[in-house]
Amino acid sequence: MSTFKARGIIIKETLVGDNDKSLIILLKDYGKFNVWAKNCRNSKSKLLAGSSLFSYADFIIYDNGRSLTLNQIDIIENFYTLTEDLDTLAYGTYFLEFVDKNTQEATPINDIMLLLLKSLLILSKSTIISPKLIAKIFEIKFLQLNGYMPIINNCSYCNIDIKNEKDLYWGNNGVVCKKCQNNEQFLLKISPNIILVLKHILSSKVDKLYNFNVSENILNELALVSKKLLNAHLYTNLKSTSFIEELENI
Ligand SMILES: [Zn+2]
Repeated sequence: MSTFKARGIIIKETLVGDNDKSLIILLKDYGKFNVWAKNCRNSKSKLLAGSSLFSYADFIIYDNGRSLTLNQIDIIENFYTLTEDLDTLAYGTYFLEFVDKNTQEATPINDIMLLLLKSLLILSKSTIISPKLIAKIFEIKFLQLNGYMPIINNCSYCNIDIKNEKDLYWGNNGVVCKKCQNNEQFLLKISPNIILVLKHILSSKVDKLYNFNVSENILNELALVSKKLLNAHLYTNLKSTSFIEELENI
């Protein structure tokens, strides 16, 4: 039995009984854990303010060997501005669910935690870059940090350098040349600009990721490329996705 302190962010909450919550917290250096927040919904509880989704804080946690219980929360950032706008709230919720459904418990994933925090921060503060573009950059960088690197310099079938190719397509593992287009069903036709955007995303560190913008056409193309990659390599049946799709079609 022990008590430990760790910095983290609450990525899922489930109400239990009248006053409790079961939380999933992504903790720096530890990974994702289920933590009980007992009595946290009581108006007199010292856990009331910090035991909600998006809460980034220093948590003091008691481990009895079988389960973890929250003792104290010192809030660093609660991303409150995210919740004031329907769009940013929907995308923020999507990022949390995306990370929860595509990561293992008890495995340190500091790089993914940094990506999540940076993405939420940009989402809550930036007026220049749209939530949809933030989401597409987030998805592609997540795939890379999760160990999956799309092939973008050579055809993913015949390995030919695509620099001089006029017609480019996108498949499950990356770019495909004209000659190889019959190797895969449902290929997307893509423009060379998409390759430049992907290169930027894949070669940038997380803190330099969100420093560019694209036209509406390129963004829509990027969304299709990302969707194809996610469907092939990650768990994508998320509750929050359908809400975002509704928002984007308004
Ligand atoms: Zn080829």
